Amino acid sequence: MLKIVKNATKYLPNQAIISDGKSYTFQELLHYSEQFASLLLENASDLNETRVAFMVSPGFDYVSVQWGIWRAGGVAVPLCITYPLPSLQYVIEDTDAQIVIAGEEYASILAPLAAEKGFRFILLKNIDSNEINLKKLPNLLSERRAMILYTSGTTNLPKGVVTTHENIEAQISTLVKSWHWSAQDHILCVLPLHHVHGIINVILCALWSGATVEFLPSYSAEGVFSAFQKGEINVFMAVPTIYFKLIAYWESLPIDQQKQISETLSKFRLMVSGSAALPVSVMEKWKNISSHTLLERYGMTEIGMGISNPYNEERKAGYIGKPLSGVKVRLVDENNQVVKRGQAGEIQIKGKNVFLEYWNKPEATQKTFTDDGWFKTGDIAVVEKGYYRILGRDSIDIIKSGGYKISALEIEEILRTHPIINDCSVVGIPNEEWGELVAAVLIVNDNGLDLKELNTWMREKMPAYKTPRQYKIIEELPRNAMGKVTKNDLKKFF
Ligand code: ATP
Ligand code: MG
Repeated sequence: MLKIVKNATKYLPNQAIISDGKSYTFQELLHYSEQFASLLLENASDLNETRVAFMVSPGFDYVSVQWGIWRAGGVAVPLCITYPLPSLQYVIEDTDAQIVIAGEEYASILAPLAAEKGFRFILLKNIDSNEINLKKLPNLLSERRAMILYTSGTTNLPKGVVTTHENIEAQISTLVKSWHWSAQDHILCVLPLHHVHGIINVILCALWSGATVEFLPSYSAEGVFSAFQKGEINVFMAVPTIYFKLIAYWESLPIDQQKQISETLSKFRLMVSGSAALPVSVMEKWKNISSHTLLERYGMTEIGMGISNPYNEERKAGYIGKPLSGVKVRLVDENNQVVKRGQAGEIQIKGKNVFLEYWNKPEATQKTFTDDGWFKTGDIAVVEKGYYRILGRDSIDIIKSGGYKISALEIEEILRTHPIINDCSVVGIPNEEWGELVAAVLIVNDNGLDLKELNTWMREKMPAYKTPRQYKIIEELPRNAMGKVTKNDLKKFF
């Protein structure tokens, strides 16, 4: 039996999920997922890794469908609920999904596609659970493929990342241990559910531990704070942009409400940030509001989580922490040699948490592993006093100018400390003489920013070769579904 299912049987009467104002126990979750697995199987005894794509809003149905697919032996392919039709079609066709499931609100998008393409289409609303006869479910080996998740598409077209049940179990169990999950926990889920962050770190870690997951129908800062105010939630995980928005909303509230919220937050057990670099300014402001030092961690679709600030020891601002237990990490140079202490290098990862393959892309899969089986992340980092610090992605954040390698993230961190700059993003732009030049896009809170003065201010803080040569002020940074700035879209401004 799958471990996630086996674990759930330990907590049958516990509250597993709260969604749309209703509460569901682990027993109900197991029952509905078994019913759904039976429905998927029809006359078969095992789906044998058939890809099953599903477009379902975060909540009880989402989890029942996901577990139902697994229990029937299928590969779960969660679709992003905000994608336009061409992106959905890309994922459905790329995975060659034979079955597609839609929540009621997505029927109008997917039904015409089903009619055209001829895959089996299941509309959740039309299911009469009284008519489902429970079937004997297959016994599954953990080496089976379990899920295909698409990368965020920050650098290129999203790639389908295949993980096995064993990979997923390794990803969950290391986090449960490192972050001290227990059946007493209660987490609020506000993240999209077609990515590792929401699926593994939030939902599956909680359910693995017998804890409760509460879903918000849609994200709003007001909704998050009013859910917190009920006093039951004690764990929260989000991307930096969400903390940024929560801070802005909190700052707009009257003082007595601010105090109430801060009081509630101070009782939380754990608050985590990840998926993109957490600006030090955000971490500090959140600490003032909540009395919590955010725990920043580093992960990828391909590995789950790899490096994390400690639960009990110091959580360092600007650092992603130390390798998680069971995850092997090394830093290497361009020749794949482990770098000397204190030098920057590419993060490479080994462990049961590491994915099996890119779906349908044997060449890409082969290229991304070294001969001795290390996964090349493409992220550059350095270790300082035992803590890893991310310098950025080799392809976009490491700007190569006049023989220097410059970390865009370091420059962004400094720009953000300027009182007029709300947010920013630094990119390299092609230049014949220097290779690349540093350029910065700024979001400002005052139209009176004098770029000459800004330049002098920057020069006092960093060497000349690192200071941006060009600035551009824009209204908003382009971001993908995970709130990551899509830097390739910024180069057009220069
Ligand atoms: P694609 O691979 O399609 O370009 P992506 O790499 O953004 O998209 P994900 O797998 O969702 O897709 O994101 C993983 C990446 O996110 C990491 O490789 C790293 O660059 C970045 N990341 C994750 N956590 C952190 C963090 N704490 N600090 C800085 N960067 C982070
Ligand atoms: Mg990536």
